Formats: sequence, structure tokens, C-alpha cells
Amino acid sequence: MPVPSEVAGRVRALAAGLLLPLADLVLPVECAGCGRPGRPWCRRCAGALTGLAFGSAPGRDVVDRTWPGARVVPPRAPASLPPVWAWGPYEGPLRRAVPGWKDHGRRDVEAVLAPLLTAALGAAVRGSGWPAGPVLVVPVPSSRRAERRRGDTPLVGLTTRALGVSPPISADGALIATRLATALAPARRTKDQAGLDRTERRRNLEGSMMVNPLWHRVVRGRRCIVVDDVLTTGATLAEAARALREAGAADVVGATVAATPAPATRAERGPRGPRL
Ligand SMILES: [Zn+2]
Repeated sequence: MPVPSEVAGRVRALAAGLLLPLADLVLPVECAGCGRPGRPWCRRCAGALTGLAFGSAPGRDVVDRTWPGARVVPPRAPASLPPVWAWGPYEGPLRRAVPGWKDHGRRDVEAVLAPLLTAALGAAVRGSGWPAGPVLVVPVPSSRRAERRRGDTPLVGLTTRALGVSPPISADGALIATRLATALAPARRTKDQAGLDRTERRRNLEGSMMVNPLWHRVVRGRRCIVVDDVLTTGATLAEAARALREAGAADVVGATVAATPAPATRAERGPRGPRL
């Protein structure tokens, strides 16, 4: 029996009324970089990223896997900090996008951040001078408190996606086989790092990570890249590197999406990278 058009119209209106709010929930309609309504990642923010990378040159694409990224050294870095390469400075649209991705439900931004981490991983492989051979890529662990709050581990998701963009290439042109290794785990409770000064951060993290016993055999004798989203004082990556070395890693370097810039270093960007 045909449905009377009036009834069909009401059903459509009801469905639209139900679906539109749902669509709003599922599809973010604000730009994660600037908050403007419209697209999840607007053209202005995409353009801002292109020019932001360390060693950037106008007109080059941020996804270029042989570029960019630079070695960064935070001021008064911990002695155990491994060499760390970052894609670019933690500024512009990233200052909103990274916290949005990690803590405010904008996991869709993973697609924007992943190629940046891919570039940093590539820079780390080239910069470390490692020859061909397998490399473990190890995300720093979240605290158990953060993991409970978020319900997942966004850095593991980001790292997995970054490894899927393209494999890193060694300085002598060989493709490097990478393996995600969620080998690190919290060894004890720590305070939230936000709001702590440099010394407090270091003390808060000292001895706070361990290599999960199940991963000991995998880590021993291997080259590892520890990964974090943002390099600030270096305390987190230093602790991660300590735990990996203690478990017998052959060599450890670091890679991050971004590094907190000191205002005076902007002009120092270049092939050799800034000291931050
Ligand atoms: Zn935007």
C-alpha cells in the first residue's frame, strides 16, 4: 500500500530532526586548528603548517618524506636525553590541534598529525646515521590516570598511522623496516606534568617507566626511536630512553611531532636545526 505523501513527509522531517544532531556529534564542524566553523581542518591552518616546519621552504609539501625535521635540544636538557628530531615548532594551529586531538575528542586530527610524525621519524633515521636494518618505534606510555580518562592511548594510534604513511629512509638510501613496539609501561604513579617546573618534571618522572617484561627479549640489542607528541623539557623522552637502555636497547633516539620553541630561536632554523 503506498504511504500517503503527508505521512512520508512527516517521517522524513522526523528522520532529519534526529539525524542532524547525530551528524553534528559524529562529524566535527569546527576547524581543530583555529576553531572556525566549516571544515574539520581549514585551508588556512593547512597552509600555516606548510610554512612552519623546521627547515621549511615555500612551496614544499609537509608530507615530503625526505624532508623536513630538525634535531632539537631543549635548554638545560637532561643528560640522559637521546638525540631528538621534531617536525616543527609547537605553535600556530598545532597549539590548539594537539590538545584537541589528545584530550578533547578530536581524534580526526590524527590524519593531520601523522604525516608530521612520519617526517620526524624519517629525520631521526637519517640524522642518527643508522644503516639498513629493523628499528623499533616506541611511543612513550600515558599515565594510567590519563589512559582511564581518555579511554584509549592516542599516541599509539598516531604512531601506528604515522608508520603507515611511508617507511623512513636511511642516510645511505635504504628503506628502514619499522615495528611499533608498545614496550614501555608506567612503573609507578606520577603527578600531572602540567604546571611543574623543569626540576619538578624531572623528579616526577625519574624511574617512572619500565620495559614490560614481555618486551625485554624484543628490545635487547635493538635500535629504538621513542616517540612523543611534543618535546618540552625533554624529561619524558629522557626517562623513556633510560628505561629502554636499561633493558638492553642498542641505541635510542627520539622523534616528536613538535617542539616547544623559545621565541629567540625562530631565526635560527636551518639545515642543522635550532637549539630550543
Ligand atoms: Zn583552521
